[in-house]
Amino acid sequence: MSRRKMIYEGKAKILYEGPEPGTLVAYFKDDATAFNAQKKAVLEGKGVLNNRISEFIMGHLNALGVPTHFIRRLNMREQLVREVEIIPLEVVVRNVAAGSIAKKLGLTEGEALPRSIVEFYYKNDALEDPMVSEEHITAFNWAATQDIDDMIAMAVRVNDILSGMFLAVGIRLIDFKLEFGRIYDQNDNMRIILADEISPDSCRLWDAETGEKMDKDRFRRDLGNVTEAYAEVARRLGIMKDNAPATNDEGES
Ligand code: UDP
Repeated sequence: MSRRKMIYEGKAKILYEGPEPGTLVAYFKDDATAFNAQKKAVLEGKGVLNNRISEFIMGHLNALGVPTHFIRRLNMREQLVREVEIIPLEVVVRNVAAGSIAKKLGLTEGEALPRSIVEFYYKNDALEDPMVSEEHITAFNWAATQDIDDMIAMAVRVNDILSGMFLAVGIRLIDFKLEFGRIYDQNDNMRIILADEISPDSCRLWDAETGEKMDKDRFRRDLGNVTEAYAEVARRLGIMKDNAPATNDEGES
């Protein structure tokens, strides 16, 4: 990995300079963090699984006309992506009450929401990603009203596609988080596309029959078998043939 220039190291991924201008290589680590990185662990094989699951989902979204930064998977832990200017927001879509909304509004976990809800959080670790409104977003120039409309439209479309995709394999999509970035064409026209990853690290996924958690809440709440649950998500999506977490770094290209 040292042969390439590192651009950024995050909690779960490292970004390296890509082979061509305007591209980056995203390397998926096994590191898991929760509660603003107060809780940390290394979960062997998680990076491999998230690389594969995110590839599968982003590839599917690209094919259905949702623009994403994903270009192709390079190997077990890396994917080639388009370089974007990240918008400093986390866009959360919720179908069912869980996590922070359940706590904040006194809802029972598992209660269906009256309709899908889109929320925005300001990406800032020092401030613990506070929830913000469209007023904050436009006032502080993080995004314009049109950009917000575009992100909401894409988030709702992603929710419809992913809800169906997961339900078909016996999984309920409870909620998830998206990140968006800006790209510019030769004439400097700006377009917003989906960035980051979509994986059990950024979604709540419950078994449709049993309600068993198959996502990062297994780590947050010390439920055990975290990578096994991620592997089961991959297996059901038809990505991995068995439940054995792959740990090999090299190999395919
Ligand atoms: N989420 C995420 N990164 C974050 C915060 C939330 O990927 O920094 C995801 C989380 O996994 C869940 C959804 O966004 O699928 C909603 O999270 P919530 O606001 O309930 O916060 P949490 O309970 O995860 O702290």
